[in-house]
Amino acid sequence: MQNDPFSHGLWERTAPPAPATGPLRGEKRADVVVVGAGFTGLSAALHLARAGVSVIVVEAAEIGFGGSGRNVGLVNAGLWIMPDEVPSVLGSDYGERLLAALGDGPRVVFDLIREHGIDCEAEHRGTLHCAADAKGLREIEERARQWQARGAPVRLLDKEETAARIGTSAYLGALLDERAGTIQPLAYVRGLARAAIEAGAEIFTASPVVEAKRSLNGWRVDTKQGSVEADWIVVATNAYTTAPWPQVRAELVHLPYFNFATAPLPKEILERVLPGREGVWDTREILSSLRRDRQGRLVFGSVGALRGTGAAVHGAWAKRSLRKLFPFLSDVAFESAWYGKIGMTADAIPRFHRLERNVIGFSGYNGRGIAPGTVFGRYLARLITGEIGEKDLPLPLTDPREQSFRPLREAYYEAGAQLAHLVGARF
Ligand SMILES: Cc1cc2nc3c(=O)[nH]c(=O)nc-3n(C[C@H](O)[C@H](O)[C@H](O)COP(=O)(O)OP(=O)(O)OC[C@H]3O[C@@H](n4cnc5c(N)ncnc54)[C@H](O)[C@@H]3O)c2cc1C
Repeated sequence: MQNDPFSHGLWERTAPPAPATGPLRGEKRADVVVVGAGFTGLSAALHLARAGVSVIVVEAAEIGFGGSGRNVGLVNAGLWIMPDEVPSVLGSDYGERLLAALGDGPRVVFDLIREHGIDCEAEHRGTLHCAADAKGLREIEERARQWQARGAPVRLLDKEETAARIGTSAYLGALLDERAGTIQPLAYVRGLARAAIEAGAEIFTASPVVEAKRSLNGWRVDTKQGSVEADWIVVATNAYTTAPWPQVRAELVHLPYFNFATAPLPKEILERVLPGREGVWDTREILSSLRRDRQGRLVFGSVGALRGTGAAVHGAWAKRSLRKLFPFLSDVAFESAWYGKIGMTADAIPRFHRLERNVIGFSGYNGRGIAPGTVFGRYLARLITGEIGEKDLPLPLTDPREQSFRPLREAYYEAGAQLAHLVGARF
């Protein structure tokens, strides 16, 4: 995408085409203007359009250009911090509501996919959170206990069952979450766009919003070639924010994350590696993830950016790690590689903002955005239509606050991941 071979990798090669869209030109009017065409913006647009609200989406680059088109495709339930930590930060009302909303998030995603016939390699077969060491095992045991106390369908697998499901004995056990699954993320976000257009939304791409100002009738957002007047603005720019809301970006520390994809593997290998097609991630501090795509490629990822020396360092690490995980893989060659920026908040909990009157948005998903983006987009639509009030949201209203030492921490994460992958004999 945008002539960058490392932007969307495999997903761009195998996703169905995006619906035809073009730049915003001239002056338009809608009830709501959504800025950003990722999961959050397009879910908001789809649910608004379905409720009969007129909505225009304005996207700086292309549909799914941000995290939505680049991620691993693990449709997880909840956040990556421990369930009990959420009410301890937000209080029990918001905390339990957020856990319930995000615990149900994968169901919302897979229901939308079915309802709108979205062709996105949807596999509702669970995820495996794997214990890499004894500390990791204690962590997943505790996580299982905390989710089970809330009635969630999760269970612990021992070393043998984990090995049988993944095809490696590298892990001491795993937490199987049956709520979760995998999708082809660029195909999903393009499918959301198509569904939103079919429901009546208009989408404009290659149109960065450069300014938002009050107008006689509410708000006016300007791009270089056009403008939209609307009563409401949904700010859905998240970790890829450019002007005019830099405070949304400043609240997040960017954590780079890459993926490498093999060629489709032979049948006898696929009978051993993830035959049940669950999505996998592990408990390491610099975590890795693993999944299959529909054609039998392995997609393997971890923290790091594929620029400068990063591409070579992380590529060599990924090959080494896959060979260690699966010694029967004779030759590991990668067909594609890509990376993106994950937006981390200070406490690993997403944010709801009202930046000005009728200018609202969610952001800061900490690497968990497929289900949360879809669910939060639906909340935004319900808030705008008056179906719910602000007190019914799963997050309190907060003002964006810049994180301290942000550029330094971003440089540290990028360099630290490279160093870890350069020297680390992992697995
Ligand atoms: C490599 C990677 C792996 C990940 N893995 C997973 C995973 O397995 N599971 C999971 O749940 N989550 C994962 N995530 C997180 C998830 O992808 C994000 O949280 C999610 O995509 C955020 O969606 P969004 O719609 O809020 O923002 P985005 O998808 O980032 O969309 C924001 C959009 O706003 C546009 N924009 C910005 N500024 C402007 C402007 N001024 N005018 C107009 N448009 C603008 C951008 O171009 C962009 O398209 C991962 C993220 C990355 C990067």
